[in-house]
Amino acid sequence: MRVVFHPQFTEVYDSDPAAAPGRMESVLEALEDRYPLITAEAATEEDLLLVHRPEHVARVRERRRLYEIAVLAAGGAIKAATLALEGEPAFGLIRPPGHHASPNSCWGFCWFNNLAVAVEKLRRQGQVGHVLIVDFDLHYGDGTANAFAGVPQVRYRHLSGGSRELFFADLEQCLAGERADLVAVSAGFDRHEEDWGGLLKTQDYEAIGRMLRAYGAPVFAVLEGGYNHRVLGRNVRAFLDGLA
Ligand SMILES: [Zn+2]
Repeated sequence: MRVVFHPQFTEVYDSDPAAAPGRMESVLEALEDRYPLITAEAATEEDLLLVHRPEHVARVRERRRLYEIAVLAAGGAIKAATLALEGEPAFGLIRPPGHHASPNSCWGFCWFNNLAVAVEKLRRQGQVGHVLIVDFDLHYGDGTANAFAGVPQVRYRHLSGGSRELFFADLEQCLAGERADLVAVSAGFDRHEEDWGGLLKTQDYEAIGRMLRAYGAPVFAVLEGGYNHRVLGRNVRAFLDGLA
């Protein structure tokens, strides 16, 4: 298990909860150097254009400081995906999040779709055929779904969350489907019982990690939501422990 990070992710680039001060630090603290940190490198404009329209990239670029961090987040996802294909799970401890970023629009604290850019890059390079995207964030990743609409090789699944039982039944069913060469995970922790969703327990994230690992394909995950700094770190750590 390796964690992709960049010190610039600690910068407060906006006034939304994903950009809040102390959020990244709360995760780093909980991880206690348990997993090696790999430094994220910026995605190129060419990478972004695999998913996004030039107009969208240009609009984000107008906000220079935000853009700098957003391209590092997309590049961090690419790095995590590449590491996963080398045989060890990897986690992108990145922000801004990405699953609400569509090809030509974005909302919900997202700017570029980090995970989609990474998946699309590996696909274009011919490194993966079928990809399963599992999104366990509280919110539906409309941006990711839009990015891969009409692409039968990429399956996007947002897990339902009526109850813990339904959530795990849905995850099980999602992993029982057609085999994929790569599992890409939108890891949002806002469904925790002490976060916005009020549902999952910390140990549930370890169980999610174990189930994803047991699937047997290379797997990488990137941070999406998760806003209670008191519990975010330990939830990420539980997930990574399960995945490792
Ligand atoms: Zn969310």
